[in-house]
Amino acid sequence: MKKRNKRILTFYTDQQVCIDNIREASFSKSPLKPYLLMQRIKNKKLSGAFQRTSDFQSFTKKDFKIAHTESYVNDFFNGEGNCYTNGLPWSRNLVHSVGYTNASLYAAKRHALLNPTSICFAPISGMHHAQPKGGCGFCTFSGQVISAIKLYEEFSASGAYFDLDGHFGNSIEDSRDFNPILDLAIPRGCNINPIGKNGAYIASFQRGLDHVGELIRAGKIQYVVFAHGADSHEDDDLGGACDTKHWLLCAKMFSEWVNQISKETGKPLPVTLALFGGYRSDNYDAVLDLHLKSLLICANIICKNEQKETLVIPRKVGR
Ligand SMILES: [Zn+2]
Repeated sequence: MKKRNKRILTFYTDQQVCIDNIREASFSKSPLKPYLLMQRIKNKKLSGAFQRTSDFQSFTKKDFKIAHTESYVNDFFNGEGNCYTNGLPWSRNLVHSVGYTNASLYAAKRHALLNPTSICFAPISGMHHAQPKGGCGFCTFSGQVISAIKLYEEFSASGAYFDLDGHFGNSIEDSRDFNPILDLAIPRGCNINPIGKNGAYIASFQRGLDHVGELIRAGKIQYVVFAHGADSHEDDDLGGACDTKHWLLCAKMFSEWVNQISKETGKPLPVTLALFGGYRSDNYDAVLDLHLKSLLICANIICKNEQKETLVIPRKVGR
């Protein structure tokens, strides 16, 4: 079987970052997170595990209408009506940046599908609660839905999501009636959101891996996305399912499962990684470092990249 590329191909441009009002006026730092994470990679000398590309174009209104009503798309672009339903301070910069965050995920998934030796990474969040008629919970547009439908239309490829954010990724289920192609692009039962705490969470995740594994072997799923949201960590301001040991174990389980499936099918399984949620008002670096530890476990086990890290996740102040 073909060897994986050693570095995680990262679809990042500064254009996918929103600075306006986010640091001061927004609970969620997600619109800044891609930039902060890229800085953290540089400062912690972890660039050896990542290869950056900014070779992708912004989504347009036409792309967003795949999963959203015309009136919501227009409201958000114009800063009126439902434009605040995402819970974020609206700005022109925010509009510009979401065109690129959504495109980053699509470009990463498309590249992984066509070049499965590359593990692709979209450093993005702020998508999985969005609904056809509005945003919700710091999420503006359903990038995972749009990218999946585009890939289905281009390549007849169906995908599965392992959404390990601390909150259920409702936008896939909430978009099925709006665009029925989604049932083919992400078949029912392929939006995996583990539940429970620690050991129970692990068992729930394992059942999801087993289920999707069967569908891959049967030729019904062609690619997977692993969105290891940091708000499923027990010290997150909004989360609580897993302690550090169990949270990191999920990255190891996913990576070993990818290797096993690839071995069984004789070809590298197309894999895309994404960030999703993560909130720590006491220490935002802890959120970034959880994401980095997960990414480096994937790089180590799937890409055989031996990049060392010594990141320590501090407990939340007062716990
Ligand atoms: Zn969340």
